[in-house]
Amino acid sequence: MRIGIVGAGQLGRMMALAGIPLGIEFAMYDRNAGVPGAAVADIVTGEFDDRKRLARFARGVDVVTFDWENVPVASARAIARLRPVWPPPRALEIAQDRLLEKRIFQRFGIPVAPFASVDSRADLACAIGALGAPGILKTRRLGYDGKGQARIRRARDAAGAFELLGGQPLIYERVVEFTREVSLVAARDRRGGVASYPLVENEHENGILAVTRAPYVNARLQRAAERRNGRLLRALGYVGVLCVEYFVERGRLVANEMAPRVHNSGHWSIEGAETSQFENHVRAIAGLPLGSPRPLGHAVMVNVIGKKPQARKILGLTGLHWHDYGKSPRPGRKLGHVTFVTGSRAARERVARQLRRRLIS
Ligand code: AMP
Repeated sequence: MRIGIVGAGQLGRMMALAGIPLGIEFAMYDRNAGVPGAAVADIVTGEFDDRKRLARFARGVDVVTFDWENVPVASARAIARLRPVWPPPRALEIAQDRLLEKRIFQRFGIPVAPFASVDSRADLACAIGALGAPGILKTRRLGYDGKGQARIRRARDAAGAFELLGGQPLIYERVVEFTREVSLVAARDRRGGVASYPLVENEHENGILAVTRAPYVNARLQRAAERRNGRLLRALGYVGVLCVEYFVERGRLVANEMAPRVHNSGHWSIEGAETSQFENHVRAIAGLPLGSPRPLGHAVMVNVIGKKPQARKILGLTGLHWHDYGKSPRPGRKLGHVTFVTGSRAARERVARQLRRRLIS
């Protein structure tokens, strides 16, 4: 079995690192060869809309997946005519457009922040009038890690926000007064079997995921999240890993967005669960049975962003696992992550505080 991954960043690399022991080979496609995946697979270079090169790439593998949700949907559909593509291109299409995503959530009875589509200053005034402030104006497409967003604290901030983001399709959504942010990663296999990881709690810094604690134990919210992810997975005929990020507002889950791929908030599972999200994604798309997503203890995952610490300093602390993505440092860039798994919540919190101090200034 040879899996082709469109996009060869750290996610593709970690998929290959999980799949190689299962006897699976990998090929990856990216714009240039100097990518994290190059350490573990052959890289085919080309633009993401170069159908000819993508077709040649696809013919050389048995099944195709992606590690980036902004692969053009037309490219994914063209590949799907040659080889199975998992997750399905429809999931990509939804995740690429915040408006479509919110509408799909609503259609499946998944609560979201009140929102309105905004294409003009008048639309924005109307949206603020109807939904109130504070809110956030977001680009519908290509927003990630808090990019393409402007906060609107009161109605008179609208002009500045529109100035910043106008000229492209937008969405205005009311600020959710959340107490925490959580996410649910689940994998679905080709026969419809689902393995759900425990909910995890996520802390963001400047819109970028900084810390994940797993598990976030709340049986009621776990059931609710599993029901919701399950509905999406079935409706989309999904195969592979799907992550849905939720706000917890007044004890209720409010969906923020979905990622049709392995997700940063699931990285803890490499050491912290019986089967990692990467291995389960690979198993799912390869037509293999899913592994148990059971957590092995209390885990904390801290992202290393912008500046790389010395490996010897991290590894000098007993129990820490360091994942270096092999990327050159740049402000705001995810360069690696550190994971710690322990038997007690208190011990995890001690290490989490230490890691925060050392890695997130
Ligand atoms: P996003 O790119 O939509 O995931 O947004 C990045 C981060 O901005 C989220 O993880 C939240 O911390 C914050 N955020 C986004 N949308 C909202 C909202 N409607 N209410 C409150 N915070 C939000």
